[in-house]
Amino acid sequence: MTQQWHLLRNPGLVPVPVSTSDEAEKYGLDAWRDFPRDQMPPWEDYSEVERVCGVLDGVPPIVAPYEVEQLRRHLADVCEGKAFLLQGGDCAETFIDNTEQHVLATARTLLQMAVVLTYGASVPVVKLGRVAGQYSKPRSSMKDALGLPVYRGDMFNSLEATEDARVCDPQRMIRAYANAAAAMNMLRAYLSGGMADLRAVHDWNKDFVRSSPAGERYDAIGREIDRALAFMSACGVHDEALHTASLYASHEMLAIEYDRALTRVYDGVPYCLSGHYLWIGERTRRLDGAHVDFLSRVANPIGCKIGPSASPEWVLELCEKLNPDNIPGRLTIVPRMGHAKVRDVLPPIVEKVTAAGAKVVWQSDPMHGNTFEAASGHKTRRFDHVVDEVLGFFEVHRQLGTYPGGIHVELTGEAVTECLGGAQEISEEALASRYETACDPRLNTQQSLELGFLVAEMLRH
Ligand code: PEP
Ligand code: MN
Repeated sequence: MTQQWHLLRNPGLVPVPVSTSDEAEKYGLDAWRDFPRDQMPPWEDYSEVERVCGVLDGVPPIVAPYEVEQLRRHLADVCEGKAFLLQGGDCAETFIDNTEQHVLATARTLLQMAVVLTYGASVPVVKLGRVAGQYSKPRSSMKDALGLPVYRGDMFNSLEATEDARVCDPQRMIRAYANAAAAMNMLRAYLSGGMADLRAVHDWNKDFVRSSPAGERYDAIGREIDRALAFMSACGVHDEALHTASLYASHEMLAIEYDRALTRVYDGVPYCLSGHYLWIGERTRRLDGAHVDFLSRVANPIGCKIGPSASPEWVLELCEKLNPDNIPGRLTIVPRMGHAKVRDVLPPIVEKVTAAGAKVVWQSDPMHGNTFEAASGHKTRRFDHVVDEVLGFFEVHRQLGTYPGGIHVELTGEAVTECLGGAQEISEEALASRYETACDPRLNTQQSLELGFLVAEMLRH
C-alpha cells in the first residue's frame, strides 16, 4: 500500500500538532535552534515571531504529504535518467505581484518549455515552480545601494525604499502563508481544468515560433511535435495525461521558523508542507548550520545550490548528511558555477559523488553564477552566458557518463527586460524599459522559450 492510499484511506490519520507534543523532540524538528545560523533576519521582537508561528502551527498546510511523496518518486526517475527536471519562476515572488495573471503566466511558460523539453529528451519532464511561497531571499550585504536595510523578501520586509518598510515584520509570515495558499489553490484548479492541454500549449509554442526573430530555427522541432500530436490523435490516444499536468511548488528554505511551523508529522514521518520541494542556497549551506539540520529532518525532496568554492569532499559530506539512506530523488545538487568555470569546477565534484555511489539529481542553475552589474546599475545576466553554462553542464555529464538531470532558472511569463540578449537582442540601454524584478534578473517569456528549445536540442544530440 502506498503512502498516498494509506493517507487517503485513513481519515482518522490526522497530523500530530508537533509544537504541542513529544513528536518535535522525537524527530529533532527544533534541533536547528541550537546551531549557527546564517542570514538570520534582524527581528526586533522574537516573541512576536513565536506568536505568529503559534498561529501557523494550526493552519491547513499548503501541500499534501502524498503529493510530496509523488514528487519524490518523479525525482527518483530523474535520478535514474528516466525523466528531466524543469524548475523556474521569479527570483523573489512578491505579494503585490501574486496575481492570477502573473502566476498563470509563469505556469504557462513552464508548460510551454516542458513540452519542447519532453520532445527533446523523450522522457517525462517534472515541473517545479518557484511559486506559491518563494518569499525569502538570502542577501550578501546588510544595506542596499541607498544605505537602507536590505530587502530580504516579502516574507520579512518590503521592497519599498524607506527605513520603516525595511523593518522585518513577523506578521508578514501570515501574509506569505495566505498568498502561497491562494496561488497553490488557483494553480491546482487551472492545471486540472484545461490549461495544461497539450494541444493548447503546443499552439502557444507555435505562436512563439511565428513571432520570434529566432523562430525559423525552432520551426523544425515545432513541426515534428505537430506531426507527433497528429499521429497520436489518429491512433485514438486520448489519455488523461495529455490534458492535465502537475506543477509542484518550491521555495528557498530560509525562514526556518515559517517552514518549521508548517511541518506536520504523519504516521511517524515529518513533512514540511509549506511547499513540495525546498532548497538551501549557496549562503546557507554550512554543514554544521541550522538550515542543513532542519532540512535533514523532513522527508521532502530537497536541494542544495553549490558555487565554485564547494569542494568534492564537502559535497560528498553534504550528501551523507542530507541523504544518509541514499534514497533516489531525495537530494538534488544544483551547481551554479558561472559559465566560465563550470567545465573546470564541476567534473571532480560529479566524479567524487558518483564514485561514492551517492544517489543525487544533478540540476544546473545557469543564472546565479552569471550575474553582473550593467553600466546603468541594473543587475543583469547575458542570455548567451546562461546558455553556455547549461551547455558546459551537459558536456561535463557527457564526458563522465553521468546524467544531466535538469535546469533551475529564474523566469517570468512577462515581457520584461532584465536579462541581455536572446533573439530580441535586449541591450543595456533597453534594460530600464521594463526592469521589474524585486531581486535578481529573470528571463522573459521569449528568452525562456528560446532556452527551452536550445536545451531540447542539447538533449537530442
Ligand atoms: C536564488 O535561487 O535566488 C539564490 C539566491 O541562489 P543562490 O543561493 O545560489 O545564490
Ligand atoms: Mn535569485
